[in-house]
Formats: sequence, C-alpha cells, structure tokens
Amino acid sequence: MKSLDQLVRPNIWSLSPYSCARNEYQGSEATAFLDANENPYNNPYNRYPDPMQRELKDIISNVKDVAPENIFLGNGSDEAIDLTFRIFCIPGKDNVVSIAPSYGMYKVCADINNVEFRAVELEEDFSLNADKLLKAVSTSTKIIFLCSPNNPSGNCLADEEIEKVLHAFDGIVVLDEAYSDFAFNESYRHRLEEYPNIIVLNTMSKAWGCAAIRLGMAFASAEIINLFNKVKYPYNVNLLTQQKAMEIIRRKVDVERWVNNILNERETLMDAFTYLPCCIKVYPTDANFFLAKMTDANRIYNYLVKCGVITRNRTTQPLCRDCIRITIGTPEENNALLAALRKYKDENL
Ligand code: PMP
Repeated sequence: MKSLDQLVRPNIWSLSPYSCARNEYQGSEATAFLDANENPYNNPYNRYPDPMQRELKDIISNVKDVAPENIFLGNGSDEAIDLTFRIFCIPGKDNVVSIAPSYGMYKVCADINNVEFRAVELEEDFSLNADKLLKAVSTSTKIIFLCSPNNPSGNCLADEEIEKVLHAFDGIVVLDEAYSDFAFNESYRHRLEEYPNIIVLNTMSKAWGCAAIRLGMAFASAEIINLFNKVKYPYNVNLLTQQKAMEIIRRKVDVERWVNNILNERETLMDAFTYLPCCIKVYPTDANFFLAKMTDANRIYNYLVKCGVITRNRTTQPLCRDCIRITIGTPEENNALLAALRKYKDENL
C-alpha cells in the first residue's frame, strides 16, 4: 500500500479542521454552557449533539466488535462514500475503479466530484475476476469499490478474489457490506490490521430496519478514520438519530427475528418464482433481495406498478437485461407480488 500522505489529496492532508465548541470542551462538570451560542431553553434539543458520537460509538463498538477509534458514523453510508472521494481523489485528475453492476451512488459521487469512474463488468454469473478488475487500474487510481453482497446481483464476492485485490492494489479499497447481516461470510471489519488500505461500509438502513434515521458506518484504520473526522460536517449525525440508533441496538433480539423472517420468506418467494411462466431465471443471493430474469422486465415492471406492487427494474444495468430486483417484504407484500405475477399474461407466452 502507498503511504497515506501519497494517497490523500494534499489540501486535505494539510487541512486544519473546523473546531466546534463541543470539540473544544468535552467535560460534563460545568454548570453553565455559554460557549456555543445555543438557546438556553428547550432542553435537550437546544444543545448541539456530540460531534464524535462517543456514546453511540461505544455501543456500536461492542455490537460490531471494532474499537471506537476505527469507527466513523455518518448520515447514511452514502456520506462515507462521498467523503472517500473528497479525501482521496483530486478532481479532474484521479480515477476510481468499480465493479459493474453495483450500487449507483459510487458513480454519482464520482460524477459530483469530477472523478473518472472506471466500471469493470463482473462475470456472467456476477462473480468477481480480480485480475480483470486490476487491469483497469492506472497510476492515478485512488480507490477500488467492491460491494459484497453486491447490489443488485445479491451475491457475495469470493474471498480469494477480494483478497487478491487487497494485496495487489496499492490504493484504498472500499468494501461495501451494507447487506452483510443477511449473509454468513466473515466481515472484513475484523481484518483492519491485516489490510490497512480497506474501508468497510455498513448501515442501519437494512437489517436494522432504520433507513429513515440515516445512520451509516465506516470501519477503517484509526488514521483513515481521523481523515473522515477532519472532512465531515461538525455535527453530521443529529441527536435524534443518535438516540434512535441506541434504542434499536438495544432491540437486538427483534432485529435477529426480522433477519430470520426475511431469510425464510426469501426462500419461499424465490422458490415460487421458479414456477412462474414469466420468470426465466432466479439468481442466487446472500442479501434481503434477489434478482430475477423475466420474459420482459419493462412490461412486467409497469404491470406490477398498476397492481400497486413496486419492484426495481434493473434492465438497463450491465449484465441485467430483463432483470427486476425484488426486495423481500412481509408475507402479505410477497403474496401480493406473487398473486399479481400469477395473473400476468405475457404476449409471448
Ligand atoms: N450501499 C449499498 C450497497 C446500498 O445498496 C445502499 C442503499 N441502497 C447503500 C449503501 C446506502 O445506504 P445508506 O442508507 O446507509 O446510505
């Protein structure tokens, strides 16, 4: 791996971050807080939240088994994705490499930051070929984006191929594990010492059932986390989100039950899909969704919308011709989908 001072944008490396009032004074002994120009009334919402989310990080540290100094919390994992561009990529000069198809925000953030985005197609079965991916790397490549389980294909990428990328590439590897709570693979967040160039992403939006509160996590070396902390907005995670996140983490048993239900429903729904005349193929998945190749994705997607069932049409994505992505819902939602598809009449059938 290149040293961080070679990888980080020079202006970020030398940046003096904004020092907010709540960073300067961190004790709790004081009787008068006259430092932050807050309103003294309407406690507790009158006060700025902890900019470093210490209490929440301690709890997440226990659940995820990662030290607090290796954790960044953001406004969804989307914030962490954007920050990696702003920390490492010089606009108009550097590039990033990503698998395709994958999560759309990697490219959107690249475009916003004026960074060249090099998409390398996965194999036909959505597996990763590390050698092929690495061929797209140039001396200006700062980041490689991998996603496992991958969105929209649903499959985990093979460890041998991920490790090949981690060993061969001298820049930053972002491994997005947004859906890892539905998979049985070991998370790379436990291997931060082995791979100092990795940033592992996780979120409360999926298994934890908290997409509305916007809380994403990045796990990385303490040096990389310090860079995130330098660049983020001072109070990037609001108090309500911090409180709700702590609440849901205490309901770990409910979360485990939801995940089990979703995995059971996934099996039932995928099995039912194999009997549908309008379904050509169901792709194996390790996530809370699956990809299905249909006879005509556009037509079926529009038909389902009319039936009040919304799926994700992925037909324009690389390797996803005529594919729709289906999120596993409640048994009632899944039955509504199946009932509609059983009634579907395809002209070509
Ligand atoms: N990564 C992947 C692979 C995703 O599919 C999504 C959301 N669809 C995200 C990240 C964004 O997660 P968050 O809600 O934490 O911003």
